[in-house]
Amino acid sequence: MIRAHTIRLNPMPEQESLFRQAAGTARFCYNWGLQAIKDALDQGQPVPTARALRDAFKRIRAKDYPWTFAVGKSAIEGAFVNLGRAVKNFLDSRSGRRKGKQVGFPVFKSRKRGYGSFYVANDRMQVDGHTITISKIGAVNMTEPLRFAGKILGATIRYQAGWWWISIQVEIDHIPPQHTGPAIGVDLGVKSLAVTSDGEVFENQKHLKRALRRVKRLQRSMSRKVKGSANRHKTILKLAKAHYRVACQRKDMLHKLTTALVQQASLIGIEDLHVAGMLKNHRLAQSIADASWAEFRRQLEYKAPAVGSRVVVIGRFVASSKTCYHCGDINDALDLSMRVWDCPNPVCRAHLDRDLNAARNIRDAALRLAGA
Ligand SMILES: [Zn+2]
Repeated sequence: MIRAHTIRLNPMPEQESLFRQAAGTARFCYNWGLQAIKDALDQGQPVPTARALRDAFKRIRAKDYPWTFAVGKSAIEGAFVNLGRAVKNFLDSRSGRRKGKQVGFPVFKSRKRGYGSFYVANDRMQVDGHTITISKIGAVNMTEPLRFAGKILGATIRYQAGWWWISIQVEIDHIPPQHTGPAIGVDLGVKSLAVTSDGEVFENQKHLKRALRRVKRLQRSMSRKVKGSANRHKTILKLAKAHYRVACQRKDMLHKLTTALVQQASLIGIEDLHVAGMLKNHRLAQSIADASWAEFRRQLEYKAPAVGSRVVVIGRFVASSKTCYHCGDINDALDLSMRVWDCPNPVCRAHLDRDLNAARNIRDAALRLAGA
């Protein structure tokens, strides 16, 4: 079974210009082929096949259109395949072989209707986590990893609604179940482990707090000891052990949290590390929060596909903690010590827990990014 996953891309400016160039070349080839078909029809000749058109184009390409060599060859091949499909759909529709709405004769693609799209063949790209490496374009960041495991057949990159998107076709044998849960946003904290947009609070467990206090105490004690002394060395060993305990306990809690989340929600929005790390914290708490954020994301992303849920990571441009989830007002003056969101907008006056407000903004941003 073939499934497609559409993912938003974060291209660098120079990559974006290569995208535009590839889409423009694909549009040119499509229109060139369509003109050749029209010419054949005008002269009473049979409609040339997509393959014949492609070969004819290849013969004159170097001489007449050398600039088309700047883009990957699959963009050009894909354009002729698309044209062939459009002609076939038209012919099948007219003969009645294709059911449903009548399909018209293909029309020229216009730049006025957007940058358009181009095809990337499976041997011209490589997907690894959040990165897709495309030949002649390089490594491009994807806002979420590919949801399906299986053989990648190909992909189409298109510009839509102000963003570049890639739709990757995958041949899969395991069909993920349909998840019927709602979308939720998760605000990962330090004081409590996490708060969801449904208002659910996952607390840090007591033994973790105890272990954290021990780490702090040992750190203070170590800094008082003479460098190179045996006592200092002993404390360093104790500290390493205490750190390890904290990491294990945190990991264990994260497993419970991520399992609960993927079971509850069909779409899970989380913030990018750099946004989540905005909270002002003691350096120690910060490094632990950072480490657990990466682990949190890793766990969510491998657990979600198995139950048909998906994870959307919100970039750093969304100020989730300084925006009112209800009316969208922004309070830049929000003090980090304030635990409650009091909306400055006199009409709105939303009043709720600050982390809950953030979680709801994350959920809404995830829904927007997922195109839901
Ligand atoms: Zn408000």
